[in-house]
Amino acid sequence: MAKKYCYLFTEGNAGMRELLGGKGANLAEMTNIGLPVPQGFTITTEACTQYYEDGRKINDGIMAEIMTYVEKMEQINGKKFGDLKNPLLVSVRSGARASMPGMMDTILNLGLNDDVVAAMIAGNPDPKFERFVYDSYRRFIQMFSDVVMEVGKKYFEQLIDAMKEKKGVKFDVELTAADLKELAKQFKAEYKSKIGADFPSDPKVQLYEAIRAVFRSWDNPRANVYRRDNDIPYSWGTAVNVMPMVFGNLNNNSGTGVAFTRDPATGEKKLMGEFLVNAQGEDVVAGVRTPMPIAQMAEQFPEAYADFVKVCDLLENHYRDMQDMEFTVENGKLYMLQCRNGKRTAQAALKIACDLVDEGMIDEKKAVLMIDPRNLDTLLHPQFDAKALKAANAIGKGLGASPGAACGQIVFNADDAVAWKAAGKKVVLVRLETSPEDITGMKAAQGILTVRGGMTSHAAVVARGMGTCCVSGCGDIVMDEENKKFTLAGKTFKEGDYISIDGSTGNIYDGIIPTVDASISGYFGRLMEWADKYRKLQVRTNADTPRDAKKARELGAEGIGLCRTEHMFFDPARITAFREMICADTVAEREAALAKILPMQQADFEALYEALEGCPVTIRFLDPPLHEFVPTEENEIAALAKAQGKSVETIKGIIQGLHESNPMMGHRGCRLTVTYPEIAVMQTKAVIRAAINVQKAHADWNVKPEIMIPLVGELKEFKYVKDIVVATADAEIKAAGAKIAYEVGTMIEIPRAALTADEIAKEAEFFCFGTNDLTQMTFGFSRDDAGKFLGAYYDTKIYENDPFAKLDQIGVGKLMDMAVKMGKSVRPDMHCGICGEHGGDPTSVEFCHKIGLTYVSCSPFRVPIARLAAAQAALKD
Ligand code: PEP
Ligand code: MG
Repeated sequence: MAKKYCYLFTEGNAGMRELLGGKGANLAEMTNIGLPVPQGFTITTEACTQYYEDGRKINDGIMAEIMTYVEKMEQINGKKFGDLKNPLLVSVRSGARASMPGMMDTILNLGLNDDVVAAMIAGNPDPKFERFVYDSYRRFIQMFSDVVMEVGKKYFEQLIDAMKEKKGVKFDVELTAADLKELAKQFKAEYKSKIGADFPSDPKVQLYEAIRAVFRSWDNPRANVYRRDNDIPYSWGTAVNVMPMVFGNLNNNSGTGVAFTRDPATGEKKLMGEFLVNAQGEDVVAGVRTPMPIAQMAEQFPEAYADFVKVCDLLENHYRDMQDMEFTVENGKLYMLQCRNGKRTAQAALKIACDLVDEGMIDEKKAVLMIDPRNLDTLLHPQFDAKALKAANAIGKGLGASPGAACGQIVFNADDAVAWKAAGKKVVLVRLETSPEDITGMKAAQGILTVRGGMTSHAAVVARGMGTCCVSGCGDIVMDEENKKFTLAGKTFKEGDYISIDGSTGNIYDGIIPTVDASISGYFGRLMEWADKYRKLQVRTNADTPRDAKKARELGAEGIGLCRTEHMFFDPARITAFREMICADTVAEREAALAKILPMQQADFEALYEALEGCPVTIRFLDPPLHEFVPTEENEIAALAKAQGKSVETIKGIIQGLHESNPMMGHRGCRLTVTYPEIAVMQTKAVIRAAINVQKAHADWNVKPEIMIPLVGELKEFKYVKDIVVATADAEIKAAGAKIAYEVGTMIEIPRAALTADEIAKEAEFFCFGTNDLTQMTFGFSRDDAGKFLGAYYDTKIYENDPFAKLDQIGVGKLMDMAVKMGKSVRPDMHCGICGEHGGDPTSVEFCHKIGLTYVSCSPFRVPIARLAAAQAALKD
């Protein structure tokens, strides 16, 4: 049977969202439950995908079907498109599966032309009616020109303003029929001057063009960005709803409104909304006049209001969720134009979910499924004051690398950040990119802004760990670090200037936008408890300081999945010894330097074990290339030379020798142990000694270290390192006369490791997917630089998302799935986790659930997100 591309509202229902879009499915559902909906039809999302497949054309078959449905609509409504006696006017509105408020296009009053206008006026002697007709006409010309022909609203607004000025009036409602008639004429002239052709008068042409414009709007830049931010696939397409107009601008006994059944900001159960007399829908949103609060409608429109209140109750009970509705009153009678589950703040989402459970409307599972995990971010980090943010214009955009909002004075290096903070100032650290040496400055800053780097860049990873707001990779910034200034959007920013950044959206603002602190309510705890009941995945955290680990525990982490030990070496007290280790000429020299580090590492690990109270802790051995640790400043090089008893030239030679063309594929990870086994020996001693001590202090805990080897690609390589670890660990345990069990496992972050997982599992006791490196090496693009060209990939739809933020399930995911299966075929009870940044991304977490991972591990502030996402994955399963 041929595909059906059009559905009358009487033919659909709420379950047909994929085909009819959210708006279309709900218009059908409202029709089914007997609500007053003007009867039209929906053109399916499949027609939209077909439009794109046909090279952005609506093919003849689909167009013919649309025209058949126009006829059906005409019959149902007893009016005819383009008719001079009883003309049918329609609205054409987009409506995707997932609601994308304001992202796509709407056209009202379609079907008007000079003849129809004249006929309508001739048929109704009321002078007010004439005004209404011209008002509708000028609106239609304006919207059609803007939305369909992309002329630009502003030209029309200028004409309206000029007319108001000429007439000495303030509001558009004060313009007379003659004024509006004149405006309609001016609008058409404006259209012709911009487009070079007459405004189309044939309603069928108007309709065709309007539908095409809605399909086209699926691909407009703001929709593309919204989709990427909200995980909505491009392939879905949008539906189009064609609906007979009802007129809120008919007279003063008419109007239009939007309302929520509960407060979308707080979740409080009360009708919230606004109503505007003698107006059409877009006036409320556009703020042309100030609308009245919805409750006030009761006085002026008592019957319509009473009907509306009933509809609200009915819809809430029907959908069992807070509803967001658009409606119109025409001559005192209520019409419903739209309903959907309303967008809400995270606070409101939690309260509404809990209230609905308490009201017996939904069960706990539904409550867990109702909350968008990504929204939880806003509960845990400071946010911009909503009003101030609304008034602000972004001057640039980078990647929203670590959520939250920050506002402060610009500083250009870590030392200044520390000093300014000590002086009581709030600072935003702006860097070309950060390096481990910047940690102290990053800690001191309210937020971090970098010119380079992606979602897994140093700045992004560290900021997320600390819960500090970070915008990374804003390539539009022209940086002059040396002179402490940069330019962005044509303005030069100097040290001390104020800047505000939003780590969720990546937006950058000039000047001060005040922030408000995060607050966690009791509803949060309740919902998290429910989530924990249903999830199968464990949630661990990536943490390398006791402070971060404690925070993560508070937020529900059940262990550490990744402790990056290298982060511990950047403390000023340790970096010296570490640099001595790097610059050692002999094994003895190296061991001497490592001996200085050993007690510090041991103390670090003890503090971590203490913070984790017996929960599992995975400690990953040294990973980054050594050049990241050597000094770059002359004075530091001189100090190192002195400490080592070497010449400055010798030290410079050593540093030079560490240079690599591709350091991320170079001498790092387990390769460091293959060349310098003594590093692994020191780290093993530190881990085991710490475990023995903490176990001794807490007999009731089960301290079982998990030692994780990075960057393994070959069984023999892993075995070589493991043998060193086991020999050292066993000797330590024996010497202490202790009983401590431990595991030695590997990261799977090199494609070859995934491909040979059955081999590696013969020796590795657990796997943990390092999807940052695995993504980098599977795609073959650098995790630090990919941001430079990924934008072009989004524009061309080659990729829809940053694969470093959202797991590539098709490629990287296939390697993971395979590795889990192959690993478990050899070692059925091995635990498998993920500790790349994807461990805190909801859709990636769902994938991890599906392939049977034991746990996901993510930065502390993403732990609640992962808990909720894991529960949703289990419930959807
Ligand atoms: C990874 O590669 O995914 C990982 C967790 O390790 P890192 O980011 O430290 O390379
Ligand atoms: Mg890695």
